[in-house]
Amino acid sequence: MIPYGRHQIDQSDIDAVVSVLKSDWLTTGPKISEFEGAIAQYSGVNYAIAVSSGTSALHCAAYAVGIKPGDEVIVPAITFAATANGAIALGAKPIIVDVEPDTLLIDTACIEKHITPRTKAIISVDYAGQPCDYQALRDLADKHNLYLISDSCHALGAEYGNRTIGKIADATVFSFHPIKHITTGEGGAIVTDDDVLAKRMRRFRNHGIDVDHHHRNTAGTWFYEVVDLGFNYRITDFQCALGLSQLKKVEKWIGRRREIARQYDRAFQSIDAIRPLTVRNNVRHVYHLYVVSVEGRVDLPKRPELFSVLREMGIGVNVHYIPLNLHPFYQRHVGAQKGQCPVAEAAYEKILSLPIFPTMREADVDVVVQSISEMVGRKKLF
Ligand SMILES: *Cc1c(COP(=O)(O)O)cnc(C)c1O
Repeated sequence: MIPYGRHQIDQSDIDAVVSVLKSDWLTTGPKISEFEGAIAQYSGVNYAIAVSSGTSALHCAAYAVGIKPGDEVIVPAITFAATANGAIALGAKPIIVDVEPDTLLIDTACIEKHITPRTKAIISVDYAGQPCDYQALRDLADKHNLYLISDSCHALGAEYGNRTIGKIADATVFSFHPIKHITTGEGGAIVTDDDVLAKRMRRFRNHGIDVDHHHRNTAGTWFYEVVDLGFNYRITDFQCALGLSQLKKVEKWIGRRREIARQYDRAFQSIDAIRPLTVRNNVRHVYHLYVVSVEGRVDLPKRPELFSVLREMGIGVNVHYIPLNLHPFYQRHVGAQKGQCPVAEAAYEKILSLPIFPTMREADVDVVVQSISEMVGRKKLF
């Protein structure tokens, strides 16, 4: 079986975790700020806040920018549910907008049409690992006085222009789930240059308490005050030790992902039925996913058939994502409807995520390409 993604753990990762397990601090200890410092430095920003998941990171960011009941928050149709759910938990209404047909990134023209006096924030998604059009998003957010939150769970290490993506949005969110670029088991982080937002997110992560257990201990005091709403969204020290060890390898892994993508790109040039998503030329795409569109022709197999046959052959293809507006929850909760995002809905019928992960060998990529080629041929489509 070739999975669509997979994590990598070596002895140095294991040693790093074990050494923290033998130390005094399993949580709220020194590895947290060490990991946060490393993530902030890698992203070229002032602050990183490490939390228990990408989902809790999105909740923290939404709370920090002040999203509250009655607000509207713009999200793209092609994403994972967690992009919208943090804002929903705070009482906001997600406005699900369409995506660009060639990249499946949020369509800035669609955003502008949906901005109302109630709009509070745009939550964009660097789908598959390709940065959004950040300049257009930043300009739009500034023009309408909105916050820009970036769900960059696919895009640790990505660049827009010559800048790391973390510097452009007000808050940029990463996930360290095993399927993502680096892992802490479960985990996530928010990066920002804004010290007020950073402070609020730190509090939200820790029950709304200003000083943490570690600080109280060293200061020799029992006193604390809950000054704001918050939860336990903390990450542990042994997870941060794993994250630090993984982060050392991220550039090598991104390089390998980009090589695999080039190999796929070259192969699909001669298979007209398979069209990779477009990559903009001013970005560093980090390929969390390698997504293709299966172009129909009456005598060729379509996406559903290709999906089933490849799975039977042991090739772990997947589909990312079912558009948000097609899920029962968003239809029931915010009146989302089939038909409201025609580009996303049409793309959803055709997209397929192919296996891509750093330890995938050239021969594995050949197997995937060969299997697809046998089904949809090398014949010209038109
Ligand atoms: C993985 C992911 C999340 C959630 O991250 P978790 O760490 O699994 O909670 C959110 N948004 C997107 C786009 C993701 O891919």
